Amino acid sequence: MASVKLNNVSKIYSGNKVPAVVDFNLEIKDKEFVVFVGPSGCGKSTTLRMIAGLEEVSGGEIYIDEKFVNDIEPKDRDIAMVFQNYALYPQKNVYENMAFGLRYKVITETKKDRDGNDILDKYGNKVLIKRRYTKAEIDQKVIEAATILEIKEFLERKPKSLSGGQRQRVAIGRAIVRNPKVFLMDEPLSNLDAKLRNQMRSEILLLRNKIKTTFIYVTHDQVEAMTLGDRIVIMKDGYIQQVGTPIEVFDKPANVFVASFIGSPQMNLVDAMLQFEEGQYFLDAFGKKIKLCEKHQMKLKANNEISKEIILGIRPEFFHLKGEKACSLNGKLIISEMMGTEFYLHVEINNTKLTLKIPMMGLSPENLVMIQKVDNILL
Ligand code: ADP
Repeated sequence: MASVKLNNVSKIYSGNKVPAVVDFNLEIKDKEFVVFVGPSGCGKSTTLRMIAGLEEVSGGEIYIDEKFVNDIEPKDRDIAMVFQNYALYPQKNVYENMAFGLRYKVITETKKDRDGNDILDKYGNKVLIKRRYTKAEIDQKVIEAATILEIKEFLERKPKSLSGGQRQRVAIGRAIVRNPKVFLMDEPLSNLDAKLRNQMRSEILLLRNKIKTTFIYVTHDQVEAMTLGDRIVIMKDGYIQQVGTPIEVFDKPANVFVASFIGSPQMNLVDAMLQFEEGQYFLDAFGKKIKLCEKHQMKLKANNEISKEIILGIRPEFFHLKGEKACSLNGKLIISEMMGTEFYLHVEINNTKLTLKIPMMGLSPENLVMIQKVDNILL
């Protein structure tokens, strides 16, 4: 259990012209689950590896539990890291893979008398001793972790006779037994197939409830980020784009990149004009002049907005077929994708391509006919 603080942390790999991470500032609270997300190459793993001590920082400071750790060896940072490729020892069985790190761990604790009371020196200070875990203690920790992860029956097996999901659990188990202050996970699910990935994602959520510790999780998958994170850090080209709760980054994206990165299918982004005429706001978009609803009128007025070019962001799920709302549009249906409980409709309106996400429930028989037979669609 620990907080993690990064102050202006930067990384330039020698030989690279472009920095991998620039001025990364973040305070992660004790027991918080924070996800770093962004496209490949944006600096997520580098940041995680700097926290772990596996990569030197080029600038800035890192604190774990308020302790400055820039110069502290990875093994002394009290962190555990789970990698994408599991990194298990193939010749050791599950028990040995999980126990291995504990055998050599040196723990410092207060010397106790026979009754379990702390022994004090002549100045009244606790007497500290260094020792290794006993076999019984290691057994207990491994069994505890194996029980949490439901891999107790595999303790004798070698990794090669485990499935991908089971191997990943062993890798997580090996981290749990160390009872780390901070749990670092680098794309731990990306080697698993889609079904197993969904299952393991739920298991990580359960695990998180069982072992109350600080988690930092790296993924390129925005669904993983949205479902796991208390807060999400969205990165691009080495820079933080936004830090917020899943709802914050979804509802109030800080920029166009975040708007299009979070949400599936992607948010539609349309060049439009905001017009302010005689005290009222209108949108000039899709070749139409659309009066904005009262809620938006009030918000724009409060911000003293004037006429200007804007990028209109419309989430695919915010469209309704044959809506009776203020604005209705005619478009051409290009293609429809049946996704099980919903349709993705790719539509062209006045030369602008849009994606719509329409729940099956929202499709009346009349609309269904329209999708199949007619290429004209009314929104
Ligand atoms: P991500 O985890 O977001 O995919 P990385 O942190 O791995 O991104 O990489 C960020 C940038 O740093 C990329 O441009 C990558 O090519 C570069 N990079 C990563 N590791 C090294 C390395 N060991 N040496 C040189 N460049 C590296």
